[in-house]
Amino acid sequence: MEPLTEPEIRAAFVNCTKGEAKRLAVPRDLAQRPWADLDFLGWRDPQAPDRAYLVMRVAGVPRGVALRSPRPVRRGMCSMCLTTHSGGVPLMAARKAGAAGQQGNSVGTYICADLACSLYVRGKKDAGAGARFAESLTVTEKAERTVANVVAFLARVTD
Ligand SMILES: [Zn+2]
Repeated sequence: MEPLTEPEIRAAFVNCTKGEAKRLAVPRDLAQRPWADLDFLGWRDPQAPDRAYLVMRVAGVPRGVALRSPRPVRRGMCSMCLTTHSGGVPLMAARKAGAAGQQGNSVGTYICADLACSLYVRGKKDAGAGARFAESLTVTEKAERTVANVVAFLARVTD
């Protein structure tokens, strides 16, 4: 993906108040991120381990979601990139955008704990033996599927 700047990232969040978006922890090493291999930028807040963030460009426009994983609910496979982790994948919840979110509604999904789906799909990060089931898809096709899954999740947050 095209690199994102900190102001772009802060302006991208669909389910945060302006104040929350201003305060949330944006990675300090943006220049060192492997942008060419990323379908989306995902990170956890080092000061608040139950908070995670995901930003991607949808038709060129940065869109971001703030996530929480307050409870240790886990299952084997990431819903975004379909990588299996022996230690499990956390359930992450996103407050819905707008009025629905203010009423306490959220949507959940299972995502790789380090949000490095793009790197697992490309074989740049190893999730361990048997982590990916044998598939005939190319890396490009797997990346496209991951993007489609994230876009679908974003749509569930904003609909
Ligand atoms: Zn994943």
